[in-house]
Amino acid sequence: MPEQYSLYKWTMVIDLDRCTGCQACVVACQAENNISFNTEDRFHQHRVMEWIRVERYWDGEFPQGRAHFIPILCQHCNNAPCEPVCPVYATHHNEEGLNVQTYPRCIGTRFCANNCPYQVRFFNFWQPQWPSRMHNQLNPNVTVRYRGIIEKCSFCVQRINQGKRRAQREGRQIRDGDIMPACVQACPPSALIFGNIKDTASRVYRLAQDKRSYRLLADLGTDPNVVYLKKVEY
Ligand code: SF4
Repeated sequence: MPEQYSLYKWTMVIDLDRCTGCQACVVACQAENNISFNTEDRFHQHRVMEWIRVERYWDGEFPQGRAHFIPILCQHCNNAPCEPVCPVYATHHNEEGLNVQTYPRCIGTRFCANNCPYQVRFFNFWQPQWPSRMHNQLNPNVTVRYRGIIEKCSFCVQRINQGKRRAQREGRQIRDGDIMPACVQACPPSALIFGNIKDTASRVYRLAQDKRSYRLLADLGTDPNVVYLKKVEY
């Protein structure tokens, strides 16, 4: 039975032909969402936390080899494998197509992270800490998560809610481009595009029909709400 959606179904399009691998999206996400620092020892323990990461692949051998980049974040799947395995219903699908994580419900079993084929869910092994001089840079619109729970990309749901409230105050629908998650706003070549795919005049709707478009690991049937556009090879 397909999910029924409200006025909005949030979708992100990632144009791999534009991505330069600069990682501005990663830093913007880290700052917006109060993600704790990844120190060297955490890297060595394979316990880094990044809600969006940029994977790098080499094509060819040195010195002719070329690097390809692919940003990976929660795919907000319509048939999300993480959802049915959560024993306490901490992760679920909302009527706007978002895969929502309810932090106070999470008991840290990590079944969801093990069932996610994209490896985009992260367990808080440590109580997050920042140097005291950084405390004032924390985003008051986003909770600081505590040790022992799973967290992941929310498509910057706080910005989606702000955009909806602004549109409501002004007595109108949300316009295309009104809402930008932090990664979308920070991307210098505009490789990331966000919008409501139910709006047939939106950029994401048009780009999702492009012949370069594909879904990551589509054969698994997860039906993601993140659409990739293939790199153009010459
Ligand atoms: S900011 Fe844009 S160009 Fe830079 S790595 Fe992220 S998606 Fe790619």
